[in-house]
Amino acid sequence: MATDPDPLGFRFDTTYARLPERLFSHAAPTPVRRPEAVLVNPGLAAELGLDPEALARPEAAEVFAGNRLPVGATPLAQAYSGHQFGHFTRLGDGRAILIGEHVAPGGRRVDVQLKGSGRTPYSRGGDGRAALGPMLREHIVGEALHALGLPTSRSLAVVATGETVYREEPLPGAVLTRVAASHLRVGTFEHAAALGDPEMLRALADYTVARHFPAATETANPYRALLDEVIERQASLVAHWLGIGFVHGVMNTDNMALSGESLDFGPCAFLDAYDPETVFSSIDHHGRYAFGRQPRIAHWNLGRFAEALLPLLDPEPSAALAQAQEAIDAFPTRFELHWLAEMRTKLGLANEEAEDHALAETLLATMHAQRADFTNTFRALADGTLLTDPAFADWHTAWQGRLTRQPGTAEDTRARQRAANPAVIPRNHKVEEALEAAWREGNLAPLHRLLEALRDPYDHGRERADYQEPAPASAARYRTFCGT
Ligand code: AMP
Ligand code: MG
Repeated sequence: MATDPDPLGFRFDTTYARLPERLFSHAAPTPVRRPEAVLVNPGLAAELGLDPEALARPEAAEVFAGNRLPVGATPLAQAYSGHQFGHFTRLGDGRAILIGEHVAPGGRRVDVQLKGSGRTPYSRGGDGRAALGPMLREHIVGEALHALGLPTSRSLAVVATGETVYREEPLPGAVLTRVAASHLRVGTFEHAAALGDPEMLRALADYTVARHFPAATETANPYRALLDEVIERQASLVAHWLGIGFVHGVMNTDNMALSGESLDFGPCAFLDAYDPETVFSSIDHHGRYAFGRQPRIAHWNLGRFAEALLPLLDPEPSAALAQAQEAIDAFPTRFELHWLAEMRTKLGLANEEAEDHALAETLLATMHAQRADFTNTFRALADGTLLTDPAFADWHTAWQGRLTRQPGTAEDTRARQRAANPAVIPRNHKVEEALEAAWREGNLAPLHRLLEALRDPYDHGRERADYQEPAPASAARYRTFCGT
């Protein structure tokens, strides 16, 4: 018997539910008292072949709150483990439920996950809920990263639940509908490896290859190809984070997506003054996940991924170890290539010279010494106004000299710079202002203005000065919270 199509347009085909049962638990969202849409994302809905108009209907809020399941949903909570601040822990979706994999017209497959949807078998002591502020932050940052051209999970909707969650203080609850290429994590493999069932590990690896790296099946060793490709995507992703001044905030292995998307960026924030030691997260006491440490942490996390894959890399343990080591040892070089390419475009360079690395490093060192704003220094460079700052005069002369040794006009250089250096990022004080107004006062106007300002970040002609200024020097040191 044919079922009616889903009113929002979801077309589910949840392949994850066909994996071995120890990798997930069937679990339904817990209904909430009074679902009310706070934000919806018609642009993303359109990309996914959903009905953008339907998003605003009350029935849609019911779906995004978990009170009503879309047609064909197979709700489940994924099991995973992870190294949190270096320590191995058994985890799993403790406050999230995958309601299904949606297949968009054209065949793009995405996970649709409700975050903050109630307790699951993996909730441990937690309430399974999320607070409105952190969910709105995730929405803003997902949209910003996407607009900046980075691969990232995104939010389709944030609904208020009409319920209170208790953290340090009572807070309004919310559920975020997260769309991601998948939620396969380094920690998913650590989990399968820790369960000590080689066939399950193989099933998971085959699944991951089929879903994200189908070309690997044509190589001599598909699992080695999987490892190499995950390493490559992380090298690229983290180089892009560094290029736009992004601090993920909690790069535990369970928050690192194998797809290469930015995921679970809870206490994330963007740099203002350039300092590689910058940490925003209130729980990162030792600066493990500081801005400049992100490449090293990615490398370390990928080591955990390689370890989990060992039994698949080669039946002979020493040969497997050699494969893993070789793959992992390639990360610094791969990262460096991506980072240098990123810095070259930021500097407007069209060709390559051996000294380009030093040129970029010297600029960063000068910015660090001057406590210069990261985004605005690159903007000023593109606008031709950096020269007015004497601290940068020597560097500027060297850069100008370098520009004479490349083809193309000054206008070409400037166009490259503008395409690579954002005119606007989600400034911490603006994000905070929008979040506070939204969850404390129910005033969504600053949030909508912020989201509007963050569109087209590489359009340097748009007037949005309010969103381009760094926080006043008097502003308190910015702190972010996981909201868990
Ligand atoms: P996170 O720091 O958000 O990446 O979460 C780390 C782990 O804790 C994940 O397994 C989450 O599912 C779980 N978790 C976080 N907050 C809650 C909560 N309020 N209730 C239950 N589990 C939670
Ligand atoms: Mg997480």
